[in-house]
Amino acid sequence: MTDLHVDFVSELIKKVKPSATIAVSMKAAELRAAGKDVIGLGAGEPDFDTPEHIKQAAYDAIKNGQTKYTAVDGTPELKQAIIGKFKRENNLNFAANQVLVSCGAKHSISNLLAAVLNPGDEVIIPAPYWVSYPDMALLAGGKSVIVTTTQEEDFKITSEQLEASISDKSRIIILNTPSNPTGKAYRKAELQALGEVMLKYPQLMIATDDIYEHIYWGDEDITNLGVLFPELMNRMVFINGVSKAYAMTGWRIGYAAGPVEVITAMRKIQSQATSNPCSISQAASVAALNGSQECLIPMKKAFKERHDWLISALNELPGFSCIKGEGAFYAFPNVEQAIAKIDGVSNDVEFSTWLLENAEVAVVPGTPFGAPGHVRLSFATSMDNLQKAVERIASCLAKT
Ligand code: PMP
Ligand code: GLU
Repeated sequence: MTDLHVDFVSELIKKVKPSATIAVSMKAAELRAAGKDVIGLGAGEPDFDTPEHIKQAAYDAIKNGQTKYTAVDGTPELKQAIIGKFKRENNLNFAANQVLVSCGAKHSISNLLAAVLNPGDEVIIPAPYWVSYPDMALLAGGKSVIVTTTQEEDFKITSEQLEASISDKSRIIILNTPSNPTGKAYRKAELQALGEVMLKYPQLMIATDDIYEHIYWGDEDITNLGVLFPELMNRMVFINGVSKAYAMTGWRIGYAAGPVEVITAMRKIQSQATSNPCSISQAASVAALNGSQECLIPMKKAFKERHDWLISALNELPGFSCIKGEGAFYAFPNVEQAIAKIDGVSNDVEFSTWLLENAEVAVVPGTPFGAPGHVRLSFATSMDNLQKAVERIASCLAKT
């Protein structure tokens, strides 16, 4: 028999890129396993352990036999806890059929895009964006419309930019505040201006990815478009989860709340794809949302201290320029001038490789976030690691 080569991979999947954030974390872990002393500033996950009372709820769930399938959209207890969270923290009211629990907020967003996009529909994505949005849009048959912002513009889109990006094919915009990778958060007045434009385009849905809302230290209370514009609620989907706030990345629980018909469509997809998220993780998430919120305070304090230290340390590095964020746990400096000084390095991707090889510091290049010329450093790691990383980068740059 002839050994014919058959290509089994679909044309669509060939166009999808693997997640760059995950790739960098894996590479750093591999190098460490091979004995290299790599400092990983790639991973976007809290370095804290999941609080004890949350773990206890999981042990109890196992002991009590909560080890079976649950309802596809989540246990009634968790859905009630999520409804309570929205009411208490965001002043938003949802009924149980407006909430869907999924295997992480990433899964929630991917369900959402699959539920609302027709082939060729446009997804408006402000850049810098979280690496996964454009590829998730592509997987769901959509087309990304990237709205670029710069450091000088505080990495936030204006109402004029939003309006210019809307076309007859626009289906949904994804806002992420506080932002991964910039740490910037929209102020009330800025959301007000964006909301005024959204009101004019009833075909446009709004997804707001609020996964970093608890890691926020801005000078005004965090607000949301749904409270500012109740008229938008029938086309807004709120994405959130326990990963970042409660240091629960591995538990894989995220959730979405929004209009009944959209949530129902998302639930249908989930029923044919993954069924319910892990029953034990759901029980733990009930404890996270309903339990004392005191555990959030020390984590947020540590992130803020590291942020303050890291931003000023980065601004001392030759060729680095970094603005402060109001939340999340990332610094996103512009490094174009540093790149210009290094022989054989001409962009942020090569610069990140150069840092890994020379300084043994893992960072994520800005290009996969839609922002060439930048790199992302996660400060979800100890102060010691951050100080060592900056010293190493400084000494490598001094030799260029
Ligand atoms: N949105 C943003 C902006 C993120 O940074 C992440 C972290 N990976 C997620 C969503 C998804 O988080 P998870 O799937 O762990 O809930
Ligand atoms: N959101 C995190 C990050 O940006 C975790 C990895 C991922 O899911 O992309 O690094």
